[in-house]
Amino acid sequence: MLARLFVVIFLLSEIIGIGLFSTSLTATARTSQETQVQTEVILQLNADALPTGKYTYKFLAGYQSDGQPLYVPVVVIKGLEAGRRMLLTAAVHGDELNGIAVIHALVKELGPEKLRGTIIAVPGLNQTGLVGNSRYYLRSEGGGSPRDLNRLFPGTLSGGGAASRYAGNLWHNLLKGNADIAVDLHTQSTGSDYPLFIFADYRNREIAAMATALMPDMIKRDSGQEGSLETSFVTASIPAVTFEIGGAKRFQQPLIDRAVMGIKNLMVAEGMLAGTVIKPLLPPYVGSSFANIYAEEGGTALMKVSLREAVKKGDLLAIMLDRFGVEKRRYFAPRDGRVVSVASDPLKESGAMLVRLLY
Ligand SMILES: [Zn+2]
Repeated sequence: MLARLFVVIFLLSEIIGIGLFSTSLTATARTSQETQVQTEVILQLNADALPTGKYTYKFLAGYQSDGQPLYVPVVVIKGLEAGRRMLLTAAVHGDELNGIAVIHALVKELGPEKLRGTIIAVPGLNQTGLVGNSRYYLRSEGGGSPRDLNRLFPGTLSGGGAASRYAGNLWHNLLKGNADIAVDLHTQSTGSDYPLFIFADYRNREIAAMATALMPDMIKRDSGQEGSLETSFVTASIPAVTFEIGGAKRFQQPLIDRAVMGIKNLMVAEGMLAGTVIKPLLPPYVGSSFANIYAEEGGTALMKVSLREAVKKGDLLAIMLDRFGVEKRRYFAPRDGRVVSVASDPLKESGAMLVRLLY
């Protein structure tokens, strides 16, 4: 009888939220939460001034319209010995996530004792895009029209434009002053996939060497894209590449592992880690141009080629079906090349890209 009464009191106290019998548990949980180490908020980073060690920061990149701060995560590993400063950035496009996992793996594995120089890593540049599940920087102004942050660098520190101010703050107070070389981590846009693929400005020999050291499947010799992080760094005489790692909105572990290996190989080449530079038996395929094959009519597309595949002019690339499953059109390679991107989303409207060849 007493036991039954105890159970009834216990249940009643839980239901009405008094929690008579869980007070000590709750108190313990609160205590452990309160004693967690708080990550320091910074307005500016000067990695050169830091002593040897590993640091995590929240960089205050801007404010939302409700007054809430926009924090960008930053990890700095300052090596025992002086050396190059390598900047790694991920998710300037908010749906491109593989680079975040690459940075997480690298900063977990590497410590100051193994390192000559400094790693400055930003695992998530575009906070509004990440939270809002978007490639773009999402803002309140201008009717909420999204902006491609990777077309707005170096941005501005004053004047109008929420996205430009966000980019300018990142550029001037976090990124530019802390890099001797930079690797900006991306994926293909949502709906398509890349292999491990690099955009590199081959007019600069140091950049070409960086691209090779990263051990990708394919490289495009590319003179850059105005407003991108890569081109802004190159313009500021900081060698940089755009490193594409698979597709959006996923963690693709085999590609992540290879990207981590590639970045560590680049660090060896730059004298930041001990070891011998790996030269892959199979060198990357290097091309200078894209041939994009676009859908002429809407429907569901069946892909007939795979990433990295070599194709000849006239090879079948994709078949478009209508909603009844009836074949509407076949798409063929307009020239010889290598498949650098294929659609992962079969739903295609007219003008949407089906396949991209590199040649
Ligand atoms: Zn991107």
